[in-house]
Amino acid sequence: MRVLLVEDDLMIGESLSEALQDEAYTVDWVKDGRQAILTLKIQPYDIILLDLGLPEIDGMGVLTVIRDAKIDTPVLIVTARDQLKDRIAGLDLGADDYVVKPFELGEVFARMRVLIRRAQGKADNQLSVANLSLDTAHKRVVMDASPVDLTAKEYMLLTTFMLAPEKVMSKTELEDSLYGWGGEVESNAIEFLIHSLRKKLGQNRIKNVRGLGWYISNI
Ligand code: CA
Repeated sequence: MRVLLVEDDLMIGESLSEALQDEAYTVDWVKDGRQAILTLKIQPYDIILLDLGLPEIDGMGVLTVIRDAKIDTPVLIVTARDQLKDRIAGLDLGADDYVVKPFELGEVFARMRVLIRRAQGKADNQLSVANLSLDTAHKRVVMDASPVDLTAKEYMLLTTFMLAPEKVMSKTELEDSLYGWGGEVESNAIEFLIHSLRKKLGQNRIKNVRGLGWYISNI
């Protein structure tokens, strides 16, 4: 799952960005509102973490522009305590929720999960496909009642597939969901991950459609 982090404070930005990656999110970080808007016009995200006090265009401006442009990605405002009026205005402008700085990371992650699953029309953190289930809160994967041990990238890829069972995803789509701007992508990284997932989950769970991509099979 891919996150756009919009934060001009370098310390907060760096620690949030690292913590998000540890939570198996793919993170792109921009430091002003103009960059945020440009980025959102070309790259889809699962969620946006938006600071309000930003150079160039502030968080309110970003919200106004993206909602006007019908970009309906969930937005979690992350802002300082003394901006109550701004937080209310932010929600009215189309943000989905907010957390107040200084924040507890656990709360940020929990609120992100709520917004992401709401966008997916789900009430809990469980994804299920056939004999597989995946718990996005605890990062646990179970197959036929036995836990499956996955690397972070394998987990991220499996989540991408399980969010849209039976949907064929191209190599580019899969790379986009797993690697942010900073990450070097080896040309066969996706094939390699699919190979190792098949070893752990069985050869038939992830199917290939020649020339188009792969999907996770419901059967
Ligand atoms: Ca700021």
